[in-house]
Amino acid sequence: MSLPPNPRWALVCHGGAGTIPRGRLTPEQEAAYRAALGDAANAGAEVLREGGAAMDAVEATVRLLEDDPLFNAGRGAAFTAEGRNELDASIMDGATLAAGAVAGVSTTRHPISAARAVIDGSDHVLLGGEGADAFARAQGLEQVAPGHFFTEARWASLERALGKLGLPIPPRPHGVGVDARAALAHDEGKRGTVGCVALDRRGNVAAGTSTGGTTAKRWGRVGDSPLIGAGTYAANTAAAVSCTGAGEYFIRLGVAQRICALVEHAGLSLQQAADRVVHEDLSGLGGEGGVIAVDPHGRMAWSFNTDGMYRARIAEREPLTVSIYKDEA
Ligand code: ASP
Repeated sequence: MSLPPNPRWALVCHGGAGTIPRGRLTPEQEAAYRAALGDAANAGAEVLREGGAAMDAVEATVRLLEDDPLFNAGRGAAFTAEGRNELDASIMDGATLAAGAVAGVSTTRHPISAARAVIDGSDHVLLGGEGADAFARAQGLEQVAPGHFFTEARWASLERALGKLGLPIPPRPHGVGVDARAALAHDEGKRGTVGCVALDRRGNVAAGTSTGGTTAKRWGRVGDSPLIGAGTYAANTAAAVSCTGAGEYFIRLGVAQRICALVEHAGLSLQQAADRVVHEDLSGLGGEGGVIAVDPHGRMAWSFNTDGMYRARIAEREPLTVSIYKDEA
C-alpha cells in the first residue's frame, strides 16, 4: 500500500459497546458521556494537530478515559467476583509493530501507560498480575490504592451479577472515596472498555485499548483487550484497530488483526473489512461488540452489532463527531 505524502491526521476513540438503546440514558447521562468522549478525542487531536506521534495521541486519549468513572477502565472499572479491579490494556505502534500490554494490574493508575512502558522498558510484549504492577512501579508510573478505581455503579453491577451466580458479596475495597460524577455511569451490561486509534502527520498509525474486563470475572480471566491481534492491532501496511465486546469471541476470531489482514491482503476498504468481521464473523459466532479503526490514508471506520457504542471521531478538516446510538452517523 503506498502512503500519501502528507496524510491528514485522524483519530477515533470509543468507550465501549453494549446495551444502550435510545431512551435508556437520562439527558444528564447522555450529555456527560458525549462531553467525556469529545474531551478525550480532542485531547488526542491536539497532540496530532501539533505534529505529535500517533502513539502519544492514543495514550493521551485513553488516559483521560481511564480517569473518567463513566467508563469501564481505570477508575470506574468492573469488579471481579472477589471485589477487586483487575485491569487490562495494550498499545501497538503501526510503524514498527512494537507492542506492549498488561493484564490483571490492580494498583497502576494508568494501565495504558504501563502497556506502553512494556515496549521501551522490557524485552516482552505482555506482563501479568503483580509482576506487571511491580514493573509499572519500577518504571515510575503512579500507583494507587484499590479504592481509587471504585464506583458505586460498578459495585451495584457486581452485586447483581453475584446474586444471579449465587456467589457471596465480598467486602468493599479499602480507601473508597465519593465521586459525584460516578453517579452518572450507566450499566451497559456486564462489560465496557475504552480505546483509541490514531494516524499522525508522518503517516504512522497506532491503537490502544484499556478495560476493567467483565463484571464478576473469576479465576484470573483475561479478555481480548490486552491481547495483541485480538483486541488491539496496528500496522502501517493496513490500519489500526481497537475492539470492545465479549472478549472471548474477539480472542477466538483475532478480530483486530483479522480486519487488518482483510485490508492488506484481500483489498477490502477499511469499512468493508470492519463490517465483514463484526456483522459476519463475530455475529456468526454469536459474539457482540464493536470496533474502531483508522488507516494510513486517514479513513476512519466504526462497526458494531450492539444497540450502541460510545464513540467519537475527528480529523484534519473534519469536525468532531460524537455518537452513542445505532441510528447515529
Ligand atoms: N472486551 C472486554 C473484555 O472482554 C470487555 C468489553 O469491551 O466490553 O474484557
